[in-house]
Amino acid sequence: MGISQNLLQKYAELIVRTGGNVQPGQIVTLAVSVEQHAFAALVIEECYKAGAKKVNVEWISDAQARLNYLYADQEALAKVLPWEEAKMKQMVEDLPVRIFISSDDPDALAGVDPEKLSAVMQSRSTVMKPYRNAIDGKHQWVIAAYPSVKWAKKCFPEASEEAAVDQLWKAILKTVRVREENDPVAEWKAHTEFIEKKAAWLNEQQFASLRYHSENGTDFTVDLIPGAKWEGAGAINSTNGAFYIPNMPTEEIFTSPIAGKCEGKLVAVKPLSWNSQLIENFSITFEGGKAVSCQAEKGQALLEKMIAMDENSCMLGEVALVPKESPVNQCGFLFYETLFDENACCHVALGMGFKEVLPGGDDMTMEEAQAQGINDSIIHVDFMIGADDLSIDGIRPDGTAVPIFREGTWA
Ligand code: ZN
Repeated sequence: MGISQNLLQKYAELIVRTGGNVQPGQIVTLAVSVEQHAFAALVIEECYKAGAKKVNVEWISDAQARLNYLYADQEALAKVLPWEEAKMKQMVEDLPVRIFISSDDPDALAGVDPEKLSAVMQSRSTVMKPYRNAIDGKHQWVIAAYPSVKWAKKCFPEASEEAAVDQLWKAILKTVRVREENDPVAEWKAHTEFIEKKAAWLNEQQFASLRYHSENGTDFTVDLIPGAKWEGAGAINSTNGAFYIPNMPTEEIFTSPIAGKCEGKLVAVKPLSWNSQLIENFSITFEGGKAVSCQAEKGQALLEKMIAMDENSCMLGEVALVPKESPVNQCGFLFYETLFDENACCHVALGMGFKEVLPGGDDMTMEEAQAQGINDSIIHVDFMIGADDLSIDGIRPDGTAVPIFREGTWA
């Protein structure tokens, strides 16, 4: 089969126009795999058609990353070179639209020493984080996907390479609402309006906490930050007012809860792929807002390591609502890619929260946001808890419970 030029063109347009919403005169940074150079060219051209001043490309290679981890020593890999930091400084100055085309092989780093991997990640993130914080909320960005052969084979190991890529394409295009005959830009408008209506309702309710329950053992309460917003689908660049869609697909409505204020047990309903390794059939128990224990049938050590990445990685940074009818869930397989898997059903994330959910949060430092309850950490890892029977109640400050989710979907 293969994918038609028409679909590729529509997809590239959707990413640039609806996703990044590139404005005339803006600089764009495109991060894309060397394997996807042909699609990159479509995206670059679309950016220029939208009026981009300059498109800079950061070519990614899974093979290069793997070889670096296998052969270079930890110290060399962990070091952020002056030119890399200069690039980050330039980014803070330019505030470019950042477009990421993800096509990673989920197994690219399999076999790499997990100690080495997390140590390198940890020290690089520590240097890079202030720059990321500095551009937070002040630029447009979008992550979309393009199927590579290795990624497709990971999802469909039984299929031939060609058939696997076709199947993954079919799934990706379903979830981003691109078909031969439709107008994806119009469909996205309706989709984002639906999500924003739900978010507006949640914002009106001003719930003090959320209570989760499922037959699978999930029994959990988390406190919300008074006045913090629920957000979904789109975001606004506070420097130019441009509305953009950071994730394509996106189905979630999310907020950041109070770090350190949750109790109970969350049972994962899907495997979690972290650093190219799988954590399966697991649960995490929280006391006083911190993950105090976890059980995984597979990946126990990895899960423990993730929770202990830094001082705050044991606390939540996100709670997100996604109905079980999500097209990602309908695809019925694990994508091994958070962009998709987190849009399958309700989830929470350990680690960093979003300061932009606070009123005036875009202009706060991370320290100021932390003082209001937002978690800060070098990790942000989503895991799925949206069981088919999941019920979620919103608890008002006076204690009354309002149904938000029943049987895994909007009540
Ligand atoms: Zn999320």
